[in-house]
Amino acid sequence: MERRNFLKSLLAAPAMPAAAADDYTSRLKGLPPITIKDVKVIATSGGRNYRWIFLKIITSEPGLYGIGSANDNYQTLAVATALEKHLKPWLIGKDPDRIEDLWNSADYRTYWRSGPVNNKVLGAMDEALWDIKGKRAGMPVYEMLGGRAHDAVACYDHVSGRTKEQCVEAVTKSAESGYRHIRLQYAEGYGGGGFIPANQGSRVEGGYQGPAFDEDQYVDTIPAVFEYVRSKVGFGPKLLHDVHSHLEGTNAILFAKKMEPMHMFFVEDLLAPERLDWYKEVRKVCATPQAVGEVFSNPAEYYPLIAERSVDFIRTRVTAIGGITQARKIATVCEVFGLKTAFQEGGENDPVNQLAAYHVDISSPAFGIQEENHFPPQVHEMLPGTAEIRKGYMYGSGRPGLGIDINEEMAAKYPIVEGRNGGAYGTERNIDGTVIIP
Ligand code: MG
Repeated sequence: MERRNFLKSLLAAPAMPAAAADDYTSRLKGLPPITIKDVKVIATSGGRNYRWIFLKIITSEPGLYGIGSANDNYQTLAVATALEKHLKPWLIGKDPDRIEDLWNSADYRTYWRSGPVNNKVLGAMDEALWDIKGKRAGMPVYEMLGGRAHDAVACYDHVSGRTKEQCVEAVTKSAESGYRHIRLQYAEGYGGGGFIPANQGSRVEGGYQGPAFDEDQYVDTIPAVFEYVRSKVGFGPKLLHDVHSHLEGTNAILFAKKMEPMHMFFVEDLLAPERLDWYKEVRKVCATPQAVGEVFSNPAEYYPLIAERSVDFIRTRVTAIGGITQARKIATVCEVFGLKTAFQEGGENDPVNQLAAYHVDISSPAFGIQEENHFPPQVHEMLPGTAEIRKGYMYGSGRPGLGIDINEEMAAKYPIVEGRNGGAYGTERNIDGTVIIP
């Protein structure tokens, strides 16, 4: 064919054969364009003392909506107001299919960004959008993230004891119930083993008289407890311990070194987020695996740690860092750099955030472990599809989207009770009254 005729024939040809165009249209069948019609903020105590905030994004397609968690136990009403007064008017009318675009434009919408309130707002929006997309596709969210990379999501148990003997008993019982991973805490909550009881020790006249945290005492007590437990239960159970940021610099290094012979699965939050550079020093002197990040909200905090390989597990809370969109990016970067995820749950957490973590966990080769969280029967009734944990593994409902729904009437029966002192997290001090990082 002459060149001129060839060009002519190209111009004359239809852009796409009719049959192919029909195929393309049929692939979109059932997925007409939709918009966000309404946004509802749902607050509930769950029939307990929870301070849960959920976001329901309602689309223009009848019956199609998504649910996300904006869980914040300490600034609950600030998050609820940010959703109602700032996100809602901006979000209505937008296309819920464009999750990445909405995430980024919602992030820049506030000009100041990566704060704990705003990232929970983004997290709630993001989870609800993934829920909608999954329902639209007729598949669980994890299927859209690549499908299952594991058969189920392994969880670690929480146990504690007030004596070394109680610790052995608790670990043994947990292992017998099916948990392979067990987090062991000692005595009086976080920092337990390091507190000088109220009114004891060398106190300042007229000064602080409450329980006083002492780093040296903690560094002496806890490794000895784990040594005793290992001597009784052996090295079968994978043990974890949460320092809850109670140590500073060289005490953190000493603690990690002393825990090394106990072959920990990980030590959690050895240092506060204000002391992250010390992890590089810890890494140089011992191989105790480090898990960090439950109070992170800003990517600038966790990405350098991953790139430097100065920690082993990233344990952000999915809702707190902006939802599934951010969590799966963390998981992917962890995978590339050889780290693992250990997304945070914890007592005041909610079933929607738990499931958001579950979908990222089960679809990521970088999944390490998930923190367990059990909910009372009325929560399973109020949020049907709440994940179940059996013998150390978490199971989702398998339904499309996140796989969970909310009974709004039931949620409304349990209004949120505002926290004491405005919901503030407690303040801990050392013996001279100095505030310590909790
Ligand atoms: Mg923790």
